[in-house]
Amino acid sequence: MLKKHQLLYNAALEQRITAYRKQGISLNYYQQAKELTELRAELPEFKALNAQSSQNTLKRMDRAFQQFYRRCKEGVEKAGFPRFKSFARYPGWGYNTHGDGWRFLIEEKAYLKLSSVGHIRMRGKARTPGKPKTLDILYKQGKWYASVVFECEPERKQNAMTGAVGLDWGVETFATLAHDGNDYTAIENERHLRSALNQLKGLQRDLSRKKRDSRNWSKAKKRVTALHSKIARKRHEFLHQTSTKIVRENSLIAVEKLSIKGMTAKGGKLKKGLNREVLCTAPAAFHGMLKYLCPPGCKVEETGTRYIEVPTRKVKPSQTCSGCGKQEKKPLHQRKHICSCGIHLSRDETAARVILNWVLGRESALCGEIALAVSAKHETLAIATA
Ligand SMILES: [Zn+2]
Repeated sequence: MLKKHQLLYNAALEQRITAYRKQGISLNYYQQAKELTELRAELPEFKALNAQSSQNTLKRMDRAFQQFYRRCKEGVEKAGFPRFKSFARYPGWGYNTHGDGWRFLIEEKAYLKLSSVGHIRMRGKARTPGKPKTLDILYKQGKWYASVVFECEPERKQNAMTGAVGLDWGVETFATLAHDGNDYTAIENERHLRSALNQLKGLQRDLSRKKRDSRNWSKAKKRVTALHSKIARKRHEFLHQTSTKIVRENSLIAVEKLSIKGMTAKGGKLKKGLNREVLCTAPAAFHGMLKYLCPPGCKVEETGTRYIEVPTRKVKPSQTCSGCGKQEKKPLHQRKHICSCGIHLSRDETAARVILNWVLGRESALCGEIALAVSAKHETLAIATA
């Protein structure tokens, strides 16, 4: 099926190029989709493909053109004309409607039923069960994936609505949290990350010693990509779990606004090459997840949690004392913050506290809402204990 979709994609692309060269006509998706019906009637090999999936493939090709036109319009220098796709790089195909060519079955176990393939056992579970809508089959680095989109009513567990938290990115740790009250939590990096990164380095060294395109080279290459995607997958899982936990436990989350420059400066010499690739992309991905979990503009009561980004240059979390507000530059190697006002904290804890303080001080209206939520909670507690 992958092969057929690849052929279809390339054939449709070729048809557009030929039509333009020979007749000066720009074909569009609808013209091509219409012809697809005839093509399917004539050629049995395409008839075997699901009709909607075939349209989907044409649509993908059409999208490549739309993006090309858009870039041309914007005057991008290398607009990048849509290219023919090799089988090795062809990513997969999609289905538009549940029940047409595929079915998601939950019996004792979950199965994906794919027409002309069969039943495939599914691993994991949908986080929020709902109505299956679309399916994409992906082929990546020698493995098959099915990505199912569900339509669902998001079911939000009512938050405890207690905590407000400031988050600072760590160098050695993943991040440090400053809670209201006077507590701190350090979130450690995943335990196996560093050893996995070292292992990856070893594998890449292996690869660089092999002769390019030789048998051994492609074997080594496979090992590198396999481990690379494993690390990326684990990383994603970790970020997902961590962000969900923070959102579940807090009604306000304050983080530093990310800047590319700040990110590389913060890692300093510690993060080079691959380490940087894995570790430095984490903050952006993490912020994305937080933003997704707490959509901007929502009231505390609606989502349970407010997410705020603090302007770094204005607030200077790494240079400000969380006790007295005095500002002083600290070199990166200085891991402690000791101030004459009596504050004695780690560098990351201070920064996290400064971020939280700024938000709590500035968003006074919001602060009121939280204070209300917190006091309401305390009241119930008081009644309970009474
Ligand atoms: Zn101070």
